[in-house]
Amino acid sequence: MSARIEVVVDLDAVRHNVSLLAGLAGGSGASTMVVVKADGYGHGAVEVARAALDAGATWLGVCTLEEAAELRAAAITAPLLSWLHVPDEDMAGAVATGVDLGIASPRDLAAAAGAARSAGRPARVHLKIDTGLSRNGCPPEDWGALVDAVAGLADEGVVEPVAVWSHLAHADAPTHPTLDRQAARLDDAHRATTARLGRPLLTHLANSAATLTRPDLHRDLVRPGVAVYGLDPVDGGSGHDLRPAMTLRSRVALVKTVAAGEGVSYGHTWTTPGRRALALVPAGYADGVPRSLGATGRLAVAIGGIRRPVVGRVCMDQVVVDLGPADEPHGVAEGDEVVLFGPGDGRDAADGGLPTAAEWADLLGTIHYEIVTGVGGRPRLRRV
Ligand code: PLP
Repeated sequence: MSARIEVVVDLDAVRHNVSLLAGLAGGSGASTMVVVKADGYGHGAVEVARAALDAGATWLGVCTLEEAAELRAAAITAPLLSWLHVPDEDMAGAVATGVDLGIASPRDLAAAAGAARSAGRPARVHLKIDTGLSRNGCPPEDWGALVDAVAGLADEGVVEPVAVWSHLAHADAPTHPTLDRQAARLDDAHRATTARLGRPLLTHLANSAATLTRPDLHRDLVRPGVAVYGLDPVDGGSGHDLRPAMTLRSRVALVKTVAAGEGVSYGHTWTTPGRRALALVPAGYADGVPRSLGATGRLAVAIGGIRRPVVGRVCMDQVVVDLGPADEPHGVAEGDEVVLFGPGDGRDAADGGLPTAAEWADLLGTIHYEIVTGVGGRPRLRRV
């Protein structure tokens, strides 16, 4: 590698994970929509979408219309659902390019209908009911009115109803009682809506965790995201062979020795216990290595397949790695590859295991979703 720091994505791992997920879905007669929002969870939406479609996915899912447009601009023509809309959003481009729209409110429906009229073709809509997440989704008490409005627009040929769907709150805990409650509410809404509209509609509910652990909730279509990228969302692990696809890597910029008793990095939070060999790695919080990770005192990197502790504070552009007593061979040279996190080697950190995004998440008290989307990068802020 020549870059200072880079995200490397193993598309074979993505294909492996998708084929596992699509196999599970297929076992229940369901199709697979791979979720590639947030630039494919930081892995590159277009590349992941192509790999996923190769490996057995037949649908793609994104949050925003911009994300949908990026896929269509890359000539990806697969069925594609976009589900989170803002006021006054222009959906005409999405309708014209055959993007299905998640509809959670009369406002969404009006925007879809307006777009259909200007695009000169019906908007394909997936009606989203809030079955208990209390986030995006039509409240049950407003559902009847929304479906009546859809019926009118469907009769006029302005919208084409495709599905009734919802999203789970507790799928990471597969036996949590809310899963069955949400599924029952979705099934009721699906039945009533199919009857009211007088046509068959798809139904979908399962995210990664439910795809992996609850085949009874697969319905017509599953919507895995994080597991596509090889990260296991299930509390205690799902037991499936998921392969993490992202590696964040850098290179050793400098190897040096520092005398005993010297403070290292800003604030001297670590002091050399003897004459030490140190390596400088040019990756810092401006690159997505959280400064708070350094504060845990347990951040490590892998150099030459060996776990090495980061010492002192994480700076904006660099971290310092302890290579041990200066008079002992360490085998690290300037230019060597440094893995900040990657697929790991199956061992825990305490046993010298190589760093993973899941380990970073544990250290920070967050979830691996936030780690990979944080380093892969959402689009840069637009400055006006
Ligand atoms: N469906 C919807 C509506 C989502 O918002 C998400 C992600 O949050 C997913 C599916 C995929 O979820 P996961 O990444 O947990 O599989």
